[in-house]
Amino acid sequence: MKILGKYSIGLGDRFGHQGSAQLKAIITASEKGIDITPVWNKSNREHIIIGSHPLDVRNEADSAIRSAGFKKPYFVDADHINIDTVDRFIECSDFFTIDVASYIGKKADEEEVVEFLSDVEKYTGELKITRTKLSFKTSKSQIKQIAEKYLFAIIKAREIYRKIEKAKGIGNFITEVSIDEVAQPQTPMELFFILRMLASENIPVQTIAPKFSGKFNKGVDYVGDPLLFAKEFESDILVIDYAVKEFNLPDNLKMSIHSGSDKFALYPHIGSIIKRYDKGIHLKTAGTTWLEEVIGLAESGGEGLDFVKEIYIKSLEKIEELCALYADVIDIKVSLLPAKQEVSEWTSDKFSGSIKHIPGNSDYNPNIRQLIHVAYKLAALQMKDYFRLLENNEQAVSKCVYENIYGRHICPLFDIK
Ligand SMILES: [Zn+2]
Repeated sequence: MKILGKYSIGLGDRFGHQGSAQLKAIITASEKGIDITPVWNKSNREHIIIGSHPLDVRNEADSAIRSAGFKKPYFVDADHINIDTVDRFIECSDFFTIDVASYIGKKADEEEVVEFLSDVEKYTGELKITRTKLSFKTSKSQIKQIAEKYLFAIIKAREIYRKIEKAKGIGNFITEVSIDEVAQPQTPMELFFILRMLASENIPVQTIAPKFSGKFNKGVDYVGDPLLFAKEFESDILVIDYAVKEFNLPDNLKMSIHSGSDKFALYPHIGSIIKRYDKGIHLKTAGTTWLEEVIGLAESGGEGLDFVKEIYIKSLEKIEELCALYADVIDIKVSLLPAKQEVSEWTSDKFSGSIKHIPGNSDYNPNIRQLIHVAYKLAALQMKDYFRLLENNEQAVSKCVYENIYGRHICPLFDIK
């Protein structure tokens, strides 16, 4: 039976060159007493844009693990798959993020809704999360609304889960269910009923990715009130703990935070809450590794710097096309993007400082950072040159990748000094 460890981190690597640098961050954390399971993830969308195959991620992970002599569990995550896209991931993945966000709001059959409502009748009036101060006022109509909003999506999750289970065998993979890519966040009370649905559909879910309040933009800090987030996150943690016992869900079921990179305002809160309740966490940090490659090439100067300047200049020209796919998860102020002429004069330090996410650095420009974040397609169009530069400047690049994951993500999240 595959079990995901208490702490795990989703490592994305669009171009497949940084597996070892990422793993080094995990190894350093373990030397400091924090055991984290590495999970390499890549979504179908990224594979299509880059022209890679799920098998490439498996090969990269296996080879990083082998060359480091890493003896602990690790996983390869088929990220945000659905019934149409899962097939080519089945063979080479052992972690599946079943994305049912697009089914939210579609109504299940009346019979299924009625059956669910009778199953959860006892929670009508007041839903008390036992052994905590948390309780929610609930009404019949409110619970009915939740069923009408989410039940169909969870029934779809079962369909996708069964397809994977049939091919891989029960217990041979980790199941995550994601409902984060929607406009409306789920409240802790909704989460409770969603977990009930997952239990009745017999989905052995080990991680769940809800949508939280506030904005989780790609590659930049949290936009919203961190204290409100902390309150919501704490309630979610307590709801999960209660639901695990109440519905007999897997013991290790934990929260998965998507677009989890760069949320510096949240890490101290998340870290202290999971410590207080002795809970686990899965943090997905996908796209940030590509940015570190750009920073590493900029810092290398010469041809590397020229290449990434060129990427920036082209991304200005293609800004609409590049941003369209990510419109909901980026927030670029075009007026704050420096012009082509200005950037072509920039030094290594100025260019890398503009992108590197060091809050308080006067060169840091989140608008440039977000634009580069979505511009990886441009590097994919010049893959041969790009890979040659990555290989020629490997030391500088892998240092950036390592320091970002270890120093700016793992250390603040797990309070490593
Ligand atoms: Zn996600």
